[in-house]
Amino acid sequence: MKTIFDHPQREGIGGLFPELDVPRIGAEGLIDRALLRSQEPRIPDLSEPTVVRHFTALSKLNYGVDDGFYPLGSCTMKHNPKVNETLARLPGLAGLHPLADPDLAQGTLAFLYELSDLLSRIAGMPGISLQPVAGAHGELTGLFLFRGYFEARGETERRRILLPDSAHGTNPASAAVAGFSVSEIQSNDAGMVDLDALDAELDETVAGIMLTVPNTLGIFEERIAEVTDRIHAAGGLCYFDGANLNAFIGRARPGDMGADVFHFNLHKTLSTPHGGGGPGAGPIAVSEPLVEFLPVPSIEQNGEAYALVWDRPNSIGSVHSFYGNVLVAVKAYAYLLQLGDEGLRAVSEDAVLNANYLQERLKKTYPLPYDRLCKHEFVLSGKGLAEGVCTLDIAKRLIDYGFHPPTVYFPLIVREALMIEPTETESRDGLDRFAEAMERIAAEAREAPELLLDAPHQAPVRRLDQTRAARDLVLTYPFDDREGGELA
Ligand SMILES: *Cc1c(COP(=O)(O)O)cnc(C)c1O
Repeated sequence: MKTIFDHPQREGIGGLFPELDVPRIGAEGLIDRALLRSQEPRIPDLSEPTVVRHFTALSKLNYGVDDGFYPLGSCTMKHNPKVNETLARLPGLAGLHPLADPDLAQGTLAFLYELSDLLSRIAGMPGISLQPVAGAHGELTGLFLFRGYFEARGETERRRILLPDSAHGTNPASAAVAGFSVSEIQSNDAGMVDLDALDAELDETVAGIMLTVPNTLGIFEERIAEVTDRIHAAGGLCYFDGANLNAFIGRARPGDMGADVFHFNLHKTLSTPHGGGGPGAGPIAVSEPLVEFLPVPSIEQNGEAYALVWDRPNSIGSVHSFYGNVLVAVKAYAYLLQLGDEGLRAVSEDAVLNANYLQERLKKTYPLPYDRLCKHEFVLSGKGLAEGVCTLDIAKRLIDYGFHPPTVYFPLIVREALMIEPTETESRDGLDRFAEAMERIAAEAREAPELLLDAPHQAPVRRLDQTRAARDLVLTYPFDDREGGELA
């Protein structure tokens, strides 16, 4: 597919501009000659219909949750109510200037305050900051809070973060960026933290642990309270990665399990699609000892009015401009009000039911290394299905059947991993059709493996040469060297 700059036509611009009634930019003395460009910018010379057709054709190459099943494990690619997009576009919310005086922004501050309150109740934790704009950003913010806490106590030797080998990859990355070193904790045969391995690491250099809840195997740490008790007894803090909250929202609260920081992925759990590259939001909830370190400003209620409070001496400072991505917060707030307590419990029930339904059916065809009741996702292995066929081939073949592949080769503790998250919004019929495709692919792997090895056959782009792509990096788009015209 060509970019719009490569269109051969020269159609002339699609609109007519009025005669200039101000001096031309190049007019003498207006701008230093040395700063003026010598060539015209390369703006495509195309009519409106050509531009519309170009972008419509591009959009049809894409695959999204609105096209079909998208079981990308850990990413919670589910349907989100379109009405929430409409609400986020309401002019009073979307048109508010971020520098508007708080007196003029009372409605926005009121809903942000109420959303904070709802998130605090869901987490069972007293402090909230809406400022972080991604899950990984919530992790980084949380770890800065750890630092603030230990520095205030003079325990600056606590620089080590413990991480189970089943943690999400952003966890060790965030710990490193925040200046901590990482020690890995082995999982036991059941896919949970090995308590003996944990004990062996505990000393006065440990700042805390980061737990993905449920972990990337889709398994809930059954002894989570013992893990957090041991960390606390050793003087450490507990970070919970809450990107998988759809597995237990409305049913269990991280605060009751001993979490000190918990991040939400609003753009997974609460009505903004994940993976679109668009804005996200990763608010954090914190336990009482960390509240004083939360980012500024905080939003506080003063009688009937809401105020932004900057004067918080122990705060770690701001981690983003203004209050985070407010329009993502609008959608989360609307979603929470629409669902209510009962609806939230239905979310986690359906997410877990759908995952177990698929797991039970597919484990008859594919190896399931950790065979136990799962939460919102489960991890199969593509290993040993047939000679010469691997997980990548299965994933590519799924594209021919009209499905987005699951997350592959992650988590690392399962060889040839296929990490499947059906989410709560998929129907039983949709799950059955996916399972049928997976079963047919398993049969093809034995009977006609070339169908997998050459896949995808139907996609706009066939199998890419990944080794060449990595070795022979092309980082710029090869524009032709067409000369721009001299500026008059
Ligand atoms: C998605 C995800 C993250 C990171 O969230 P981003 O918003 O993509 O930064 C962290 N942990 C887990 C378990 C996730 O699934």
